[in-house]
Amino acid sequence: MTPAHSSSASLPSPVLIVGAGLAGLTAARVLQGAGVPVRVLEARDRVGGRTWAVPALATTGEDSLLDLGATWGWAHHPYLMQLLDELGIRPFVQPSAGATAYQTTQGVHRLPHPSGSAGYLRFAGGAAQLCRTLAEQLPADCLELNTRVTQLRQLPHGQGVEVRAEQDGTRRTYHAAAVVLALPPRLVAHSLAFEPALPAALQQTLREVPTWMSHAMKSVVVYAEPFWRTQGWSGFAVSQTGPLTEIHDASPASGSPGVLFGFFAAPHPLRAAPLAPRQAAVLIQLAHLFGALASAPLAYHEWDWAQDPLTSVPGDEQPPASVPLQGPGLLRQPAWAGCLHWAGAETSASEWGRLDGAVESGRRVAAQVLQKLTDGA
Ligand SMILES: Cc1cc2nc3c(=O)[nH]c(=O)nc-3n(C[C@H](O)[C@H](O)[C@H](O)COP(=O)(O)OP(=O)(O)OC[C@H]3O[C@@H](n4cnc5c(N)ncnc54)[C@H](O)[C@@H]3O)c2cc1C
Repeated sequence: MTPAHSSSASLPSPVLIVGAGLAGLTAARVLQGAGVPVRVLEARDRVGGRTWAVPALATTGEDSLLDLGATWGWAHHPYLMQLLDELGIRPFVQPSAGATAYQTTQGVHRLPHPSGSAGYLRFAGGAAQLCRTLAEQLPADCLELNTRVTQLRQLPHGQGVEVRAEQDGTRRTYHAAAVVLALPPRLVAHSLAFEPALPAALQQTLREVPTWMSHAMKSVVVYAEPFWRTQGWSGFAVSQTGPLTEIHDASPASGSPGVLFGFFAAPHPLRAAPLAPRQAAVLIQLAHLFGALASAPLAYHEWDWAQDPLTSVPGDEQPPASVPLQGPGLLRQPAWAGCLHWAGAETSASEWGRLDGAVESGRRVAAQVLQKLTDGA
């Protein structure tokens, strides 16, 4: 969209953070806590990035928000666990009792195994609750939504960085001593312009890092109750036929309403189809797996992250051939004489691509920025 008018005002700020996902908000929290004012620029009209939860039904409350993005944490993810502690968020354990359904072209097989997600941790209000809580604890005026950064320019003589953005149809310009880019590296390479151009090796690295789960699409189906549990199913299913390949019980801790979610096959022709045939195919599959009650939901939700331009770039429809164990070291080193910093789950040195990696990267980048501000003081 072309902005309607242009603001030439230059808004000074010591530290600008681009992206209000878990990484950017964690960095903002640490910096604010150390007494460094920050400004967080977020292109979407909400915080959370790849954590996003929507109400199960128009009539249900916050505890039945359903994840369309990230869902689980794990007790062995140290940075995530520490953040949960600090925020006072107590996870609950994913329900897993009951049989696993295994679907092949021969039919549905009932396996007495516990769910493949046994012991996984969930959050009341969804994983997005972490980001909502982080945002609520920041000073009100430091977060700007609907603000899409388009361009960064290194200023001469160590004066920092000029950042250009579009905010609700208006061009904005910001100045900062340091900028943190807390969005997927591939998206940086695809959607941001740099002056001077970044070194070739850095550009190549940004393009090469896959974005975790950018190929994913989730279908979430809401029922009055988790009827599959009374039939001895856990709600966990693995399917060779699709269209959903892996299905889990996504009901809130209270068990009401009953919710199943599934990952849509990637790629799959129905992903480009209109909603009605896609939803119908999902319900037919769930009825094959768990019985006729599955064909009468109260609500159906879905999100295709591969088609979301604030997460994915063209080509991300295909799952990556392999995923790294950690992000490239180059993305943990500041550029532009220490003024340009990288964060995000894909830059992480631990639990690459996961919530834990996002938190770790936010903490690491905040320490680097604090070091830069101290050195430059
Ligand atoms: C379907 C799905 C399921 C997942 N399941 C799990 C799970 O169960 N457990 C787990 O640990 N992880 C899971 N993940 C991964 C997890 O969501 C990510 O690790 C984490 O949310 C990444 O946070 P981030 O802050 O690094 O990036 P993001 O969440 O991608 O945040 C980047 C932010 O930058 C913003 N942005 C983009 N471009 C611009 C711009 N030009 N200007 C301003 N802002 C911009 C975006 O809108 C976004 O808010 C899943 C992801 C998906 C998609």
